[in-house]
Amino acid sequence: MAPATHFKLNNGTQIPAVGLGTWRSEPGQVRQAVSFALKNGYSHIDAALIYGNEHEVGQGIKDSGVPREKIFITSKLWNTHQNNVAEGLKKTLEALGTDYLDLYLIHWPVRLVPNESSALLPVNPDGTRSVDRSWDQNETWRQMEEVYKAGKVKAIGVANWSIPYLEELKKKWTVVPAVNQVELHPFLPQHALKDWCDKHGILLEAYSPLGSEGAPLMADPAIQEIAKKNNVSAAAVLISYHVNRGVVVLPKSINENRIVSNSQIIPLSTEDMDVLNGLAAQGKAKRINTPLFGWDLGFEDWYKQ
Ligand code: NDP
Repeated sequence: MAPATHFKLNNGTQIPAVGLGTWRSEPGQVRQAVSFALKNGYSHIDAALIYGNEHEVGQGIKDSGVPREKIFITSKLWNTHQNNVAEGLKKTLEALGTDYLDLYLIHWPVRLVPNESSALLPVNPDGTRSVDRSWDQNETWRQMEEVYKAGKVKAIGVANWSIPYLEELKKKWTVVPAVNQVELHPFLPQHALKDWCDKHGILLEAYSPLGSEGAPLMADPAIQEIAKKNNVSAAAVLISYHVNRGVVVLPKSINENRIVSNSQIIPLSTEDMDVLNGLAAQGKAKRINTPLFGWDLGFEDWYKQ
């Protein structure tokens, strides 16, 4: 069976299975990359305020000439705006040059308190991040529900939410998150998190599918073997893995050839999927993104999942 091109969110809207990632895409390059992607088969862009390039992403969207309603745009509430979702959203909408988002995510389940060191990545005098541990994530979610109900965003979700955090959110949510965007690849398949999210109707999105900067996962011999067998690149295996698993995938590239090839999803056999799903349990478990504010978010046992 041909792999899905879209998945359905729990509010009934469709989301394209592949989206273009924009993290670490220099402002000078991302405009061209976004415009090129939209003119060459993509209809889904993954942005965030903290990436510092939303303005250029927005310019790329305009350059493409593709009508706004044909594009699925995601962005993320940065940690320093957790106490004022409307303000964070306003900044993002202005930067992107659009009056609504298709999906808005809480970027991390952590509030950072701005101080004179930085507005976006504040640190304490001892160098630790200026995290407000007393902040109630349910209050951030309540404000997310408000902007959703006001129609400023068509769907809301979370990112980097582990099961303990989701269990807390569940106690108060009146809108179930549509999406949980997390690091996901054969070395971090997060089977327990996927089961939990499947059970609650929350769609997973895979970030860093190639292992992030420099695409290090492509060098793995087991991935290369599956690529050779299917006569495709290792990147195609790593990206297609997610869509075959019912998960949205967000590969980032600023290179035109790679932008095109990354959107070509291949069907993978049950045998190949079993191998990919089992690699982490065979000693290859690896988490790549470990920001100072993310390590203690209930991910401590991630290597067992
Ligand atoms: P990816 O796993 O997508 O890897 C990107 C790297 O791989 C870049 O160096 C890119 O270089 C290279 N690359 C892309 N395609 C190929 C290919 N076909 N062959 C060889 N190399 C390739 O990394 P990201 O960490 O950027 O994750 C993807 C997206 O997920 C982000 O851009 C962002 O939108 C989202 N994300 C969300 C996070 C969150 O906290 N919610 C955290 C991290 C990411 P080049 O550009 O030169 O092609």
